[in-house]
Amino acid sequence: MPEIRCLKCNKLLFKGQFIEIEVKCPRCGHLSKMSAPERQPKSKAHAKTNNRQCHTILR
Ligand SMILES: [Zn+2]
Repeated sequence: MPEIRCLKCNKLLFKGQFIEIEVKCPRCGHLSKMSAPERQPKSKAHAKTNNRQCHTILR
């Protein structure tokens, strides 16, 4: 879990994930605005299609 710290005094403000936050540090009063970088998909859909076509034609 990522830790969000004050940019000015480095106080731990909270832990967790966020998209966009605006938080005022209780210690120094610095207003921190942060926005998370765009999430990149960890893995592309690697659903292997089972193309098992039956070519064997028995006559
Ligand atoms: Zn601070």
